[in-house]
Amino acid sequence: MVTHVLNFIIKLKQLLKFKRVKTINDFNFENKKALIRVDFNVPLDENYKVTDDTRIQAAKPTIIKVLEDGGSAVLMSHLGRPKGIQEEFSLHHIVDEVADVIGVQVKFAANCVGQEAEEAVAQLNPGEVLLLENLRFHKEETAGDAGFAEELSKLGDIYVNDAFGTAHRAHASTTIVAQFFPANKCFGNLLAKEIDSIDKVLKSGEKPITAVLGGSKVSSKITIIENILDKVDNLIIGGGMTYTFIKAQGGQIGDSICEDDKQELALNILKQAEEKGVQIHLPVDVIGADAFDNGANTKAMSVDAIPDGWQGLDAGPETLKNFHQVILDSKTILWNGPLGVFEMENFANGTIALGHSIAEATQNGAFSLVGGGDSVAAVKQFGFGDKVSYVSTGGGAMLESLEGKTLPGIAAIGN
Ligand code: AMP
Repeated sequence: MVTHVLNFIIKLKQLLKFKRVKTINDFNFENKKALIRVDFNVPLDENYKVTDDTRIQAAKPTIIKVLEDGGSAVLMSHLGRPKGIQEEFSLHHIVDEVADVIGVQVKFAANCVGQEAEEAVAQLNPGEVLLLENLRFHKEETAGDAGFAEELSKLGDIYVNDAFGTAHRAHASTTIVAQFFPANKCFGNLLAKEIDSIDKVLKSGEKPITAVLGGSKVSSKITIIENILDKVDNLIIGGGMTYTFIKAQGGQIGDSICEDDKQELALNILKQAEEKGVQIHLPVDVIGADAFDNGANTKAMSVDAIPDGWQGLDAGPETLKNFHQVILDSKTILWNGPLGVFEMENFANGTIALGHSIAEATQNGAFSLVGGGDSVAAVKQFGFGDKVSYVSTGGGAMLESLEGKTLPGIAAIGN
């Protein structure tokens, strides 16, 4: 009886400690001003026209929710890496594009803090949108300055973080500002979706779970590998990372990319995987080339018998067949990093084939997440964006999440 009561008290304490993190759906924004951190760090051409509006599109549902509730939206973002005030990094260049995407006229404040910003916010009516000038025109932004964050906090009633791309930075607008909204802070739609997708793979993924890690270097992926070995059933290793593993196992890799000082680490990963019951799938054959050049002579060859003067630049046909089967047998798939030098047409085949395999598995009901850097670029370039379950919008933020780190921007909403 005493133990029952004790257990009950412990459970109750745990429940009280657990505070559910709020999303925009927990708020009604009627007559409220939402201060929304968006990631409008979009690419511009030489005429300052937006060449890829993905990030603006991604923020749209959050902005629309605020407006439809009868609130107004104050949008803050950075653009590029300006050194002080630099006209080419001004967010006024994207005002028309934001208005086009959201379908509402967008006002602009030529400073993100101070009198000008405060007056523009004071004049904002329900249903209206205001875009603030580049946060990084003030060095206090990246320094995470509390005074600057307090200035920003004057510009809204509710703080909404919808910028996954900068959630791994403890900047004033992404993290510090949240402390000035103890009860009125939440994730936007996009951030909630990103967190949900990562959780669907790393926390609640349906088995078998397969991670595909490609790209150039073991050293840049090692923390991810260590974190996911406890969570996945299969680990497919491809791209340039392959050759460090093959050489460490005694294979002949010719002139292929290799990190000699990481060979021991590679063997250690293989050992850890065996101990944890994770199946490692490495390429068995590659497309070898006699130069790092799209016009090089090529032939398929065994991954561990690449002659000097040749280097593996893409996955070979047998490898792709093996990977295809593993992918099709998976219920949850994570993809980070290309299988070859996909920027060169003649070495893009492996990455495209992998995209097809993941698209087919997704069609069959698997959950697939593509995240982090070059795999996102590849997925977009080859048109797989709408054939996978989710494509992450954050490069560094995604990689740090996969490494198992708690991102400061996410933690700040939960505190
Ligand atoms: P990462 O940023 O680590 O994901 O690496 C992506 C880069 O890896 C891309 O630019 C690819 O061209 C490169 N890559 C993939 N496979 C190879 C390979 N076999 N040899 C050299 N580079 C590769």
